[in-house]
Amino acid sequence: MDNPSHGSRSFTNGATGSFNTTANPCNPSLHRAFIALGSNVGERVEMIEKACSEMERANIRVKRTSSLFETAPMYVLDQDPFMNGVCEVETSLGPLELLDALQAIEIGLGRKKLIDKGPRSIDLDILLYDDQTVSHERLNIPHQLMLERDFVLRPLCQLIPHEIPPFAGHNTTYLSHLKSLPPPEPKPVATTYISKHFPPLHSTDPKRPTHIMAILNLTPDSFSDGGKHSPTDLSTLTNTVRSFIASGATILDIGGESTRPGSTPVGEAEELARVIPAIKHIRTSIPEAANIAISIDTYRARVAEEACAAGADIINDVSAGTLDPNMLTTMARTGKAVMLMHMRGTPSTMTQLTDYPHGIIHDVGAELLSRLSAAEAAGIRRWRIILDPGLGFAKNQPHDLAILRNLHTLRSDIQGLQYFPWLMGPSRKRFIGNLTGVKNASDRTWGTAATVSASIAGGADIVRVHDVKEMWQVAKVADAIYRVDEEDA
Ligand code: ADP
Ligand code: MG
Repeated sequence: MDNPSHGSRSFTNGATGSFNTTANPCNPSLHRAFIALGSNVGERVEMIEKACSEMERANIRVKRTSSLFETAPMYVLDQDPFMNGVCEVETSLGPLELLDALQAIEIGLGRKKLIDKGPRSIDLDILLYDDQTVSHERLNIPHQLMLERDFVLRPLCQLIPHEIPPFAGHNTTYLSHLKSLPPPEPKPVATTYISKHFPPLHSTDPKRPTHIMAILNLTPDSFSDGGKHSPTDLSTLTNTVRSFIASGATILDIGGESTRPGSTPVGEAEELARVIPAIKHIRTSIPEAANIAISIDTYRARVAEEACAAGADIINDVSAGTLDPNMLTTMARTGKAVMLMHMRGTPSTMTQLTDYPHGIIHDVGAELLSRLSAAEAAGIRRWRIILDPGLGFAKNQPHDLAILRNLHTLRSDIQGLQYFPWLMGPSRKRFIGNLTGVKNASDRTWGTAATVSASIAGGADIVRVHDVKEMWQVAKVADAIYRVDEEDA
């Protein structure tokens, strides 16, 4: 009889270059396992998130997560599409204890088994447990079907692309195995979740519409619309918000402190006093905004937290958690979607920090990857993350233009950055003024139009703009040009 808690080591590091680890070298009683997450009933992403929190409560530490993919059902075809992903966990539980804990979580979250391979609110399967092989009437590890399932392999390849599956005789990596499978039809769709009231972002859908994020600065000194919106004047705010929504905005980005180069910080109390009443007002008194996402543009954890409590759906931090040590854990605790932007230093030092020795795309990609690891380590789930290359932040004009020209490379070709949605914020920025000679930022609309079109050509999912009405038109036409299925084009 196999004893699963001391399962045989069927696979060891060998000449193949695999580096599958056994238990955690710092603490041999901790084990690394990979769990497949699946749901096709109800609020699927929320169910998966609840399962992750329940795992944490059961001392199964969720260390990293994959993206989530919406996948057509396999086997039993007459059921709703699945949301699938994988997470890496660390636990001191043995394999069967882990199965017991996962099954208790499935039941606790209301899973009822109706038919085999049929609809389920949550399915938690153990794919891998260290490098062990377990053969037991209740448990097979590695999971027997994992190598034939695109919806398991694709997310697993985001976590351990270069490791080798511990099946006897198998000697290619997960990534080369995934690439050798016939392409799934229909294609799995990477899904980033914002809220129940907002359509999920489908960054791999070639026909996805570009979202317009309207900038709402509640500051007297922002570089292009400073002083326009007084935080205390709620009737002006109402009119502005209504006209943004009528003009096609689907996200409102609310900021209470300017981050333009050289700006001076206002302090937390002042920032809170500017943004919180505005968010509450939009959420309670502007019914047209019910299905509009609100993002809070702040690098301060406390502002982010209070803004979310007041009704914000997204935390948009230009520093990706580098300016406030509490930001990443706060983001994780709120569970909201987050925007992580590339920048260096602070708004007052960033203009000096423009050295990119390996090229702007490579270095921005590498620095965003390191922010992503920090975000994941803090407990932010990958399907809640939107990336932004940070035009104008620690960049000079050639850098900004190179990012606009090569967004596709950043989006698709850097290992570890695939499947995320991207936000681009070129609106009225300095390089547009330099190129056109237009000094007054609010007159840079035409130059901004070219950058919005370029952003969409490069695959941006969201554009952050001041001139909502005009840029909605630009995006509408750019979407018609660029957002087509390759097969129809
Ligand atoms: P599915 O096969 O679609 O995941 P269930 O979740 O109902 O369906 O699992 C059926 C049975 O599979 C469970 O009762 C469990 O004991 C068994 N099983 C075998 N190996 C595993 C594994 N690696 N992870 C989870 N369950 C497993
Ligand atoms: Mg299962």
